[in-house]
Amino acid sequence: MEKSNIKLDWPLVGNKSIIEFLAKSLANNKVAGSYIFAGPDNLGKTTVANFFAQSLVCLARNKQGTPCGQCSSCKQIDKGIYGDIYLINRDKDKKNISIEQIRDFIRALSLSSFLNSYKIGIIKHAEDLSLEAVSALLKTLEEPKIKVVIILITSCLEALPATIISRSQILKFHPLSSDVIYDYLIKYHQTTRSVAKNFSKLCLGRPALAIKFLEDKDFFENYKKKVEAFLNFADVNINKRLAVIEGLVGKEVKGQESARLAIRSIEVWQGLARDLLFLSFGQDDLIQHQMFIEELQLMRNKINIQSLFKLVDLLKQAKEFIKANVSPKLALGQIVINM
Ligand SMILES: [Zn+2]
Repeated sequence: MEKSNIKLDWPLVGNKSIIEFLAKSLANNKVAGSYIFAGPDNLGKTTVANFFAQSLVCLARNKQGTPCGQCSSCKQIDKGIYGDIYLINRDKDKKNISIEQIRDFIRALSLSSFLNSYKIGIIKHAEDLSLEAVSALLKTLEEPKIKVVIILITSCLEALPATIISRSQILKFHPLSSDVIYDYLIKYHQTTRSVAKNFSKLCLGRPALAIKFLEDKDFFENYKKKVEAFLNFADVNINKRLAVIEGLVGKEVKGQESARLAIRSIEVWQGLARDLLFLSFGQDDLIQHQMFIEELQLMRNKINIQSLFKLVDLLKQAKEFIKANVSPKLALGQIVINM
């Protein structure tokens, strides 16, 4: 379990009704015992959860529900030494959040807090709670404690059991239009128009992803590597394609981590295949990878529409294979051999 890391200065773009709802519950002292923040990744769910947690423990939050940033609680949170906000996540190489993790989490939340303030537990990837972990958590949700708040964050609400859903306040986060993200990048991140255009399209409505592309060079380079691998497949022989795959799933990584790496590559390629279809049908403004438009056009000229449809099927199939525990390398190999 790690201490939650909170940033105060990151405004949430879009999903205003959620902020309004949470601010109102704070103002009226009507805070639920458990919340589910649901919606696709990279919409700011974790940011809002952290911000809400800080508001709950801040000693001087304002009427809009915003933490002061100055009191002893806020200062401790800034330093990462605040003791009453807990975050759990799935371990990198594991498929599930384990019962042991949830037991530690519940134990921590049941101890009384230092200043009689709120204790907050945040669970990321709640869709990956193991069955035993869910039933342990359910007991806690059934007997809510005063001043204990649990926030479950998930990209897949349907994967949570009805018993958990029915006991929680559900807040659904939605993707934004690329225009909203374009304006946001220019206004709050001072990007050029061309960067704003490229990244607002690339992130598919997910502002936190646009920021990650903008600020995390390694992350962006990694993404580009997947794109370039795909764009080069038409020009190289099968042996070279297989060597590229080896590089993408990583020789060292094993198990669930390698499966996740492979699925991430497939999802990038699915976006590129969709772009090639948009190009074929003259829908250029819908293209996600605007920054690779020239390369996409070149590739589009090399493959016919039947092969393109076949590629779409291959990608979908490979994803299902990996979810059914087929070796990631084998599943990716099937794509590049048959494309
Ligand atoms: Zn404060």
